[in-house]
Amino acid sequence: MRRQLRALDRAATAGPSLQRAARPRRRVGPVLPGLLISGILAGLVMLHDPGMTGYRFRQLVDHLKGNGDGSYAFVVTTPDGDPVGWDHCKPIHYVVNPAGAPEAWEEVIRGGVAAAADASGFDFQYDGTSIERTFDQRVPDSSKPPPVLIAWAGSDEVPDLKGTTAGIGGSTPGRVRGRVQFVTGLVVLDTNAYDRMESRGDQRSQQLILAHELGHVLGLDHVDDLGELMNAEYVGQDGFGPGDREGLERLHDLPCS
Ligand SMILES: [Zn+2]
Repeated sequence: MRRQLRALDRAATAGPSLQRAARPRRRVGPVLPGLLISGILAGLVMLHDPGMTGYRFRQLVDHLKGNGDGSYAFVVTTPDGDPVGWDHCKPIHYVVNPAGAPEAWEEVIRGGVAAAADASGFDFQYDGTSIERTFDQRVPDSSKPPPVLIAWAGSDEVPDLKGTTAGIGGSTPGRVRGRVQFVTGLVVLDTNAYDRMESRGDQRSQQLILAHELGHVLGLDHVDDLGELMNAEYVGQDGFGPGDREGLERLHDLPCS
C-alpha cells in the first residue's frame, strides 16, 4: 500500500508540465480532467501508520523536537523557478458539501481553514454549502472559475482515497491576464477516516488534515521532513512548520494579477 502511495506521489511530483498547464482554456475534453487529476494526486495525506517502526518513530520525535528543518516544495513552478499560486489580492472563495461529513463539520472547516489562512496570509471566503460533487471535471473557466470545493467521499466514489489516504487536495491553473495562476481547487476528505477521528473525539487531526490539503490547494507539495505539515503522512504534527510557512510566504509574495 505504502509503495503504491509513494508511486502516486512520484507521479504527482512529475505533475503536468507548465506548458500544458498554461495552455489556454479548452472545451471539456480529455486534457483538462487529466490536469485536475494530476493536481489532485499531489494531495495525498496518510493517517497514522499503525505499523510505524521504532526507527521511524524516533525519526519523528527528532523532527518534532526540531520542529521541522525548514523545507518546502511547490506543486508547479515556472521555468524561472517561481511557484504557481493564487492571486493574494483577492479572497479565495470556497464552498462545502457536507454530505458524508462528521456531525461537527463546521468546526472542522473553521479550524482547518483558519490554520491555512493564518499560516499563509491568504483570505479564504466561505460562500456557503453546495451539493456539488463533481470531482473529476471541474473545468477552469478563468472568466468565472468555480469556488474551491471541500467535500467528503469514500474510495468507491474517489478511488484516490483508497487505503489509508485521508484526503486529497489540489488546484487547477488557468491563465489570468497573461499570468498562470490557480483559479479553482478541490479538497476531498475520506468519510471513513473522518468518522474514525470523530468517534475518538479527535477534532484537531481532522482540522490539520484539511489544513494540509489546503496547503496543496495553495501550491505546496509534499516534503520528507516529518516536522512539516506538508509531509505526506499525518503523524501528529501540531500545525504548519517553519518550512511550510516559508513556502506559503513565497506563494503569498507572488504579484497580483
Ligand atoms: Zn498531501
